[in-house]
Amino acid sequence: MKRSIIDDQRKNAVQLSTDELQRYSRHLIMPEVTLEGQRRLKAARVLCIGAGGLGSPAALYLAAAGVGTIGIVDFDDVDLSNLQRQILHGTKDVGRGKLESAQDRLRDMNPEIGIELHQCRFSSENASEIVSKYDVVVDGSDNFATRYLSNDVCVFAQKPNVYGSVFRFEGQTTVFAPDLGGPCYRCLFPEPPPPESVPNCAQAGVLGVLPGIIGMLQTIETIKLIVGIGEPLIGRLLHFDALKVKFRELKLRRDLQCPVCGENPTIFSPIDYEQFCGVRNEDEAIPAISAHELKQKMDGCEAFELIDVREPFEYEIARIDGAKLIPLGEIAERTDELQHELPIIVHCHSGARSAQAVQLLQQRGFRNVYNLEGGIDAWSDQIDPAVPKY
Ligand SMILES: [Zn+2]
Repeated sequence: MKRSIIDDQRKNAVQLSTDELQRYSRHLIMPEVTLEGQRRLKAARVLCIGAGGLGSPAALYLAAAGVGTIGIVDFDDVDLSNLQRQILHGTKDVGRGKLESAQDRLRDMNPEIGIELHQCRFSSENASEIVSKYDVVVDGSDNFATRYLSNDVCVFAQKPNVYGSVFRFEGQTTVFAPDLGGPCYRCLFPEPPPPESVPNCAQAGVLGVLPGIIGMLQTIETIKLIVGIGEPLIGRLLHFDALKVKFRELKLRRDLQCPVCGENPTIFSPIDYEQFCGVRNEDEAIPAISAHELKQKMDGCEAFELIDVREPFEYEIARIDGAKLIPLGEIAERTDELQHELPIIVHCHSGARSAQAVQLLQQRGFRNVYNLEGGIDAWSDQIDPAVPKY
């Protein structure tokens, strides 16, 4: 049995009523949970960022499980197009605020618990204060701005951040908790991609049940952290492919150079996404080639170097044959491994990080450098569907 994130003092301060004993009886009879674990659940405070696709199953099952206080941050209204996956809300709720709708549903599910509503956009102004009131964060956000912010604030506050994301038929989840030994989100992706380079669910679509699965996995991890059982998904990323029905686990490592949790951090307070991505000179066009042009070069046996600037765990998921892996964070120190005489083609997942790498190499004197437009995603779409998308 691992250590619970809820200490004994807080557990001992709560008792269960006769009704609660009956309500949670299927938990209480398991030796891994018992009355002790259920009291920890009751003492716990969990923050759900977003009452959408991931937040819906998370909040519902946390409420059903008897988590004593559930906080929800959201500012949106329920839209008809949400109902395909956001099962906290019903048809009668279309046009209502998501928080009101969520509160009604959760109260009906379990009147014994407390629900705290944060009707606002999660921002650098309010993030630290909101997170400070909770023991663990379930990040159900659907955009990079919020994901980086929730990561950073959780690292500062030493609270576990239970991450989930979905895209079309695939999803992934892990627990970011540097103070419990694992990496944080920025250990994997130090900087966010440009806002326009990443499609969200509205642009790319998502199978409605998929956030259900990922959100429930996030809930299981949250409950395990609270009760103090099992092996938490710290330092491991679980990837689920619904079309193939395959779960894959990838090891994640802490990056000692990480700007928030590393040995010499450079970020000490919450930052809004726009603030640190807004510095880009749009006038300087980055030389690029398409996936088809790359294929022609390969078929024509032209001499060039193909450099993959993604992270090793992404390389494990999918790769283009012949590509050499040099993660973006290492490329500045490893330019001596590149050949000045040959054209260099750089690729990443969708083209944003490789664009940064091209700029960096240009600054180091490389003249013949090109960005693969659309990254390995475009390669998979246009050239080789056997390369898995993620
Ligand atoms: Zn980190």
